[in-house]
Amino acid sequence: MFSFSITKTCKDTKARLGKFTTAHGEVITPVFMPVGTQGTVKAMLPEELIELGAEIILGNTYHLSLRPGHETIKKLGGLHKFMNWKGPILTDSGGFQVFSLGREQKCVRAFVRSCDGPEKTNAPRHYCLGGQATNQRTNEPISSKVTEEGVHFQTPIDGGLKHFLTPELAIEIQEALGSDIMMVLDECLPHGENEARTRSSMELSLRWAERCLKARTSQNALFGIVQGGMYKELRKEYIERLLVIASPERAKQSHVVNCVQGIASPPAADRNDGVNFNGYAIGGLSVGEPNELMYDIADHCTDFLPKDKPRYLMGVGTPEDLLECIERGVDMFDCVWPTRNARTATLITTSGDINAKNAKHKDDANPPDSACACYTCRNYSMAYLRHMYMCNEIVGSRLGTIHNLHFYIDLIRNIRSAIEEERFAEFKREFLKRRATC
Ligand SMILES: [Zn+2]
Repeated sequence: MFSFSITKTCKDTKARLGKFTTAHGEVITPVFMPVGTQGTVKAMLPEELIELGAEIILGNTYHLSLRPGHETIKKLGGLHKFMNWKGPILTDSGGFQVFSLGREQKCVRAFVRSCDGPEKTNAPRHYCLGGQATNQRTNEPISSKVTEEGVHFQTPIDGGLKHFLTPELAIEIQEALGSDIMMVLDECLPHGENEARTRSSMELSLRWAERCLKARTSQNALFGIVQGGMYKELRKEYIERLLVIASPERAKQSHVVNCVQGIASPPAADRNDGVNFNGYAIGGLSVGEPNELMYDIADHCTDFLPKDKPRYLMGVGTPEDLLECIERGVDMFDCVWPTRNARTATLITTSGDINAKNAKHKDDANPPDSACACYTCRNYSMAYLRHMYMCNEIVGSRLGTIHNLHFYIDLIRNIRSAIEEERFAEFKREFLKRRATC
């Protein structure tokens, strides 16, 4: 089950407040989703996530299907029961990791960004040797090969065994996990591909999107994903064609034009009838392009996406990214930024990011952020946190994660209030100014 409604729209910007309902509860948007790659948001217990105010978390299909395996998780009652998280879960299709691993190191870095993997390095050592992911047994580069049917790939996780992921299997895995919001399988291109290559990839991903819709056997929500690189015309065409795929009857009734222009969509669009997408993700951003370009493409996409469906910007981002993209009409975000940074001693605060290992904090009796009401800031000094990080004590990562996730969730809460009280633009200006000047 899934339903979504907009409760307030900002007068001056495209920012909006909304609400979606899943079988595991209701979520207010805009929302930030902590990343729980291996069936855990690293360093956090579910009760602690609830206490922080997390409403929905993300699970990585790629990792969970390989280890311990989606069939095992299904046998044990699904991902919610397995990891003791009672709230909604969104899962990716696994495609991003599959495609990233078969390419060069910059893409392996993208892989690392997309899931909350090992800390301490930008790229996990055993994933990279000579600039590319390698087979752990043979040290040969692993690869992925795309066909019409799906993608053949190897993984370093199981020593380079051969796998085959199809749109149908991506849905089967996500349904076995019991995901509340599933994502279609799409081809993920690295940044900088030319227009012809981007177009041929778009055609394939559109065919796969249709196959994903047909493969769905549950009432779980399914989101389409908009690709098209940095080519605005392709992005627009992609959206138009996704809408046609999602609702052939709408195309016949000539409603698509209105929906594309954000004017209206027919009541049929609200039904979770196995035909429609329940929301739309913007993919292929935050892959190495300048921030302004990312904002511009996100802005362009939300101009054409239907107003009555949630919009999810995948893998984004920093606090600044959240504000910029909420202003441009995005509703949902996920990113490993707060959790991974916490484990590498970077604390995110209203007055800029802090390196907790810096010697200047040796005698610092202040909390990380005097404006923060989290458990860490209420009870611990920077001197103590620095000591924990310097000694590689687990509690350092735990306290840092509590603070960073609290920062993100509190930021989202403040953004919601600002939209509600029609002062979003002012809030954004003040927040960015403070972060930039410290
Ligand atoms: Zn704090």
